[in-house]
Amino acid sequence: MTIRSVDYLLEPIMISNWKAVIITLFPEMFPGPLQTSVVGNALNKGLWECNTVPMRDFGVGKHSQVDDTPAGGGAGMVLRADVVSNALDHTHQTYGALPTYYLSARGAPFTQSKARELADEKGVILLCGRFEGVDERLLKARQIEELSIGDFVLSGGEIAAFSVIDAVVRLLPGVLGGKASLFEESFENDLLEYPQYTRPRVWEDHRIPDVLLEGDHKKIAQWRRQQAKDLTQSRRPDLWQRYVQNSLKSDD
Ligand code: SAH
Repeated sequence: MTIRSVDYLLEPIMISNWKAVIITLFPEMFPGPLQTSVVGNALNKGLWECNTVPMRDFGVGKHSQVDDTPAGGGAGMVLRADVVSNALDHTHQTYGALPTYYLSARGAPFTQSKARELADEKGVILLCGRFEGVDERLLKARQIEELSIGDFVLSGGEIAAFSVIDAVVRLLPGVLGGKASLFEESFENDLLEYPQYTRPRVWEDHRIPDVLLEGDHKKIAQWRRQQAKDLTQSRRPDLWQRYVQNSLKSDD
């Protein structure tokens, strides 16, 4: 009798056909950087789809206007509610009901757990703002959640969309080779990842830590765990606090 390794059980089932739909004034930006490396290979294999909806197609008047000056005055332009709603309704008719987010500096933080949540969906619709953003009435009326990739202001939602899609696609079945590596990464279990090393053993007088070369896997796992804890505690007190609270809970 042959005993198959546990890897067999982890073999990807190539059924994933996750749909990214990006509503944007600049569809030519996609797939852009998402054509490269593992995420690009997954696109070529059909593990995910990159669809764009050009917002300009829904503009009004003979100049296909999409924006107008802010009510109440002030700098910049605002994307019109009627234009964006037409683009959004068309997207829902074409691609069906998918979770829909407006990328926005004011949004809820995009996190690894959100990436995992989206990877379990059939896909996502991402609305990219430009200028000063989107008319608030559209967001309220269509109950669109806002998602931010960090506490800084980009000039448009497209670069945020790249980040969200990249983070989700690498979690889809069949995209990454080493499946086990996903469980040890930063933010899984609320810890940052331990330091990594590779050949040469000595580089500019710096040695790889001995413990990693001694082949004692239990000791290596302990060392890595301790390193992950130390790094998290010193660099990300917020994450560390969550980790401590969760490990207290699991001791109960
Ligand atoms: N006036 C807005 C910023 C507009 S920036 C404000 O102060 O909040 C233009 C567009 O870039 C936004 O509509 C949004 O789609 C995108 N954007 C900017 N920063 C972002 C961030 N941190 N995360 C996600 N999208 C962002």
